Amino acid sequence: MVKVVKFGGTSLAEAKQFIKVAGIINADSSRRYIVPSAPGKRSSSDTKVTDMFYACYDAASRGVDFSELFENIKKRYNDIISELGLDMSLESEFEKIHNNFVGRAGRDYAASRGEFLNGKIVAKLLGFEFIDAADVIFFDEAGKYDAKKTIPALRERLAYTEHAVIPGFYGSMPNDTIRTFSRGGSDITGSIVAAAVDADLYENWTDVSGFLLADPRIVENPEVIKSITYRELRELSYMGATVIHEDAIFPVMQKKIPIRIKNTNAPEDEGTLILADTDEPAEYTITGVAGRNGFSSINIEKYMINNEPGAIRRVLEVLEEHKVSFEHIPSGIDNFSIVVNYESIFEDIDDIIYDIKKATGASSVTVENSIALIAVVGRSMKATCGVASTIFSSLAKENINIKMIDQGSSEINVVLAVSEKNYARTINAIYKAFVKK
Ligand code: ASP
Repeated sequence: MVKVVKFGGTSLAEAKQFIKVAGIINADSSRRYIVPSAPGKRSSSDTKVTDMFYACYDAASRGVDFSELFENIKKRYNDIISELGLDMSLESEFEKIHNNFVGRAGRDYAASRGEFLNGKIVAKLLGFEFIDAADVIFFDEAGKYDAKKTIPALRERLAYTEHAVIPGFYGSMPNDTIRTFSRGGSDITGSIVAAAVDADLYENWTDVSGFLLADPRIVENPEVIKSITYRELRELSYMGATVIHEDAIFPVMQKKIPIRIKNTNAPEDEGTLILADTDEPAEYTITGVAGRNGFSSINIEKYMINNEPGAIRRVLEVLEEHKVSFEHIPSGIDNFSIVVNYESIFEDIDDIIYDIKKATGASSVTVENSIALIAVVGRSMKATCGVASTIFSSLAKENINIKMIDQGSSEINVVLAVSEKNYARTINAIYKAFVKK
């Protein structure tokens, strides 16, 4: 049994968190490869070390004195080292980093030092080997993650390494400079390492006990999702429900390696298991409900437009010219609508309307703003009759008007459009209709 375990920033924000982390790793010898983030916030008003590094490097590159900012970073690490009573010093590393800042080694290099230094401490604390991610995680010339080069290199490097710490978030470019993934990217490193060693499980340790069925800012005390498939997760993440970086799914997905989200502060909690696929039905008909505000509907009216070959294509071409992508296209006989992100159209809206009219000869093109999209997601919905009726009647009871409904062909999601003002009430109504307490 091999587990790859990734710890997020709050799990490694200060010495007492490191002690919890060591306890978790020492409790299970199959936790062999550890991927740490940089120290995160110790309280809500605190600053993540990654952000401290960005700020410090920005000052250095402007030629401004950055010594105080640099000292603050050093203090974060030195406090952890001394509180843990570790016999180690990062002084020579600090010096190197300082010199590289003066030499303008780049923002990615700067940000990556958060994970690099933290990895050194974690390795010392556990007595594990430290492997610099720059030696095993690679990007191509275009700056894209290079799986073809990375996976064999990592596999070979770890083949005879019983236990190792590989810092998250960064790797190296063909010219040996450092590059980072996007923010929160340590999740991706963990997933890559899990794929490379064919891990049995990728454990992702964070500060929540898994994915919740709904946003706790909207639904009071929502339940934790016990198991979720990759596909369901993608649908919910797209709507903004994030616990794990979206791109972290791909490397493990190909190998069907499950991911378990766990809480460093409550390790006894079961957490959420993310699976490739499962025949096991979910606990409830819906696995989760999530949504986003900020959409607009472009409504195109023309007599018998459904009989006109290419009508939708012509509208999509106009949107393409204006670099607008679409979310949904509900249609009728004399009209269809295109639901888009408000942000993507608001600057060009008059031109877009004009161009659509010209391209289609539509009798009217109108835009309705302030629309919320709500995704009801669940693998068990496919085999259940009456899902739509439960959704409709729960919203009817609340007097909420549904502007659009769209069921994906996979039948694992139903997307509704409602007015933004009904956003929270809609999510609550759906949650209550499906989740029986
Ligand atoms: N430290 C990086 C960030 O703050 C990466 C991570 O935590 O996953 O985005």
